[in-house]
Amino acid sequence: MQTTPIPAATGAAPPGGGVPLEKTPSERFVAPAKPSLVGMTRSELAEALGRIGVPERERRMRVQQLWHWIYVRGAQSFEAMSNIGKALRTTLDAHFTLARPDVEAEQISVDGTRKWLLRLPGEHPGERPHLVECVYIPEADRGTLCLSSQVGCTLNCAFCHTGTQRLVRNLTAGEIVGQILVARDRLGDWPGGTPPANGLVPRDGGRFVTNIVMMGMGEPLYNFEAVRDALLIASDGEGLSLSKRRITLSTSGVVPNIPRAGAEIGTMLAVSLHAVNDALRDQLVPLNRKYPIATLLEACRNYPGLSNARRITFEYVMLKDVNDSPADARALVRLLKGIPAKINLIPFNPWPGTTFECSDWERIEQFSEIVFDAGYASPVRTPRGRDILAACGQLKSATEKLSARERMALRAMALTE
Ligand code: SAH
Ligand code: SF4
Repeated sequence: MQTTPIPAATGAAPPGGGVPLEKTPSERFVAPAKPSLVGMTRSELAEALGRIGVPERERRMRVQQLWHWIYVRGAQSFEAMSNIGKALRTTLDAHFTLARPDVEAEQISVDGTRKWLLRLPGEHPGERPHLVECVYIPEADRGTLCLSSQVGCTLNCAFCHTGTQRLVRNLTAGEIVGQILVARDRLGDWPGGTPPANGLVPRDGGRFVTNIVMMGMGEPLYNFEAVRDALLIASDGEGLSLSKRRITLSTSGVVPNIPRAGAEIGTMLAVSLHAVNDALRDQLVPLNRKYPIATLLEACRNYPGLSNARRITFEYVMLKDVNDSPADARALVRLLKGIPAKINLIPFNPWPGTTFECSDWERIEQFSEIVFDAGYASPVRTPRGRDILAACGQLKSATEKLSARERMALRAMALTE
């Protein structure tokens, strides 16, 4: 339930100028008087029950019941919990909620991608809400939900729209798990639920949400405890039951927390590499100045449980004439030698105001071929939901109003994509 303080920002501009490496989060989560049970670990739930007078001997059983109702049945009220006595249901209702983030807006792309803009409580009553985005991407064999871990991002990657957002705060575990619940609510993805009426069909195992990626707004490893608790809830076999192999955490390279993620979370790992030498990566991913490529790759090499069947995904955004030459591709292959890896080439998604451009298609294919010939799977990530600005790195919420010029640029993009 607690938010984690983000490590003290080394906010000063680096010698010689340039972008500061990290921002200081400007806002905090303040727990409401009636907290939501969503996102509490089992022991936090037991403690919460203790506070309302549930005797110790009953607590384990009650936790099991609540867990089942919240994460298997998707209950939105205590009233629905038919195997819990009326008196306890009333007490629960007086002290707690099952609230998830409110949906401020829903957008559905022509390709079936859905984006929800979610409203989270602000720090002070009456202030503007904190907004994050959550995206559902249906594919033939899976349905992937992309979750946010922060409002905005503490880091400043040069090509990322989220990084330009000023307002930053960590999400709580409840707000992260809450995104899964909201998506399943909206998709009718609970037992007995009614799926949306536009022909969307369930994926593997009769469920809509089969995979999770922590690739929305924010740097998950700068909100470690909340992300860990949320992902352990998502993978709990008696609840949401998503296999850890179907959950991927993407980091821009917060090296000290990579072994921790391996030990305490154990999901699949994706690393945003984007450049093959420190000079360029320092520019694109300023965190590289703190944790350069060699230390990052060392942490990757030591990530527990790696094998050919369980590889690290290296994300590589294709930026025209910046990092997309055949020599870069060959250097990438050399760099990753010995690490069970796959390489995910991401066509750059432009946003209003950026000076980067996406590499030409032939360049991307050529790059992909070099990587493939060296024995690595190198899928090019198909851009999804561009018409609703839901693709990678475009998740910048409406906390900052678009200028008329930006709106025009967006419309032009939507028309030409
Ligand atoms: N903060 C984490 C996870 C969220 S970003 C991270 O950086 O890994 C998910 C992926 O999208 C990252 O690989 C990120 O580098 C990439 N990305 C960011 N902006 C992008 C853009 N405009 N176009 C394409 N990919 C982008
Ligand atoms: Fe943050 Fe990831 Fe964007 Fe970098 S790419 S600014 S780490 S969200």
